[in-house]
Amino acid sequence: EVRLNCHLAAVKPSATYKVIDRVAELRAQGVSLISLNAGEPDFDTPPHVRQAGIEAIRKGHTRYTQVAGIRPLREAIARKFSRENGLDVDWRNTLVSTGGKQVIFTALAATLNEGDEVIVPVPYWVSYPEIVQLCGAKTVTVQCEAANGFKMTPQALRHAITPRTRWLVLNSPSNPSGAVYSQEELRALSAVLLDHPQVLVLSDDIYEHLIFDDVTHHTMAQVAPRLQDRVLTMNGVSKAYAMTGWRIGFGTGPGWLIDAMEKLQGQQTSGACSISQYAALAALEGPKDFISAARSAFQRRRDLVVSKLNAGPGFRCAKPQGAFYVLASCADLLGKTTPAGRFLASDEDVVAAMLEEIHVAAVHGSAFGLGPYVRMAYALDDQKLSMACDRINDFCAGLI
Ligand code: PLP
Repeated sequence: EVRLNCHLAAVKPSATYKVIDRVAELRAQGVSLISLNAGEPDFDTPPHVRQAGIEAIRKGHTRYTQVAGIRPLREAIARKFSRENGLDVDWRNTLVSTGGKQVIFTALAATLNEGDEVIVPVPYWVSYPEIVQLCGAKTVTVQCEAANGFKMTPQALRHAITPRTRWLVLNSPSNPSGAVYSQEELRALSAVLLDHPQVLVLSDDIYEHLIFDDVTHHTMAQVAPRLQDRVLTMNGVSKAYAMTGWRIGFGTGPGWLIDAMEKLQGQQTSGACSISQYAALAALEGPKDFISAARSAFQRRRDLVVSKLNAGPGFRCAKPQGAFYVLASCADLLGKTTPAGRFLASDEDVVAAMLEEIHVAAVHGSAFGLGPYVRMAYALDDQKLSMACDRINDFCAGLI
């Protein structure tokens, strides 16, 4: 009998990957499918960044690096945090990991013990509760109302904190809701946290640069300097520089935490890919025009999707302020039947029916802890997005 680690055995297979598998199957059958389930920008990595990767190989930067990352990259990360987030960071208090995801995993694994609690606002990125579970700890979810822009109130936070609370996870702009916390909202949350010195804060800022209209990104360590010695600010190059495959993320936090994470990472990966680290260095230190071009493309696509969906008969969504997802309510679709005879009892049914009957892939909101919603990523060109919305609106109109 095969026996898995008990914490791993309880982890659910990623819902987003399940959709990806079915999408691949349908594509292999020659179906013309539109994927609104992607978690990555559709752009290529900027040319100067790709070139830096090639140069790294040519120059022989192909060996183990220091566990926490090459010094020039760590210095560039410290400068990034100072330039873009107003944080005063010593490069020694930074860590480079294999994607932002590993920063999160390492931080939680380095600090959580059996019975510890991690507060995760709903809707959440699918990986948070699973990582907490893998660490043998408990996720305490906090419902965030659509009426409050899917953001956590200070009252709800206060209510969720117990003596066992070890971390609060904040993600702004949010995957899946696109919600962005304002400076005032962060300050109000920080006031609650000041009363509870046992609580660390993980600020997942991976979508920082994908922010629209005249909204500005704020991060907890900057807004609440008094919390700085217990905030881990996490970021990376995946979303901002279209570098998801390079697998480089980074973080900064108190020295004791970064040291513990480095110790753990030393036994996990020995550090991030050397070539990717040089490419990330070029991204952080190089021209930034790529970011503004991506941002305006995403803003235009957001406007297109939101207006087309809301003009249709089924889905309803607010205008997200960041990231590249629309979280649309499918409440009006439930209880109806599709032309092929599928009864729609849940958002999962809606997503399955859309995939099979109109060949549009999306992810059900309940995977992010919030039904009945559907998350649609708009990391696609305008023409495909427009076609997807037309198919979706026709689908809704055809329900009985
Ligand atoms: N945090 C959030 C909210 C994400 O959506 C993602 C990627 O989907 C990550 C972190 C991880 O990013 P990376 O690809 O750098 O591991």
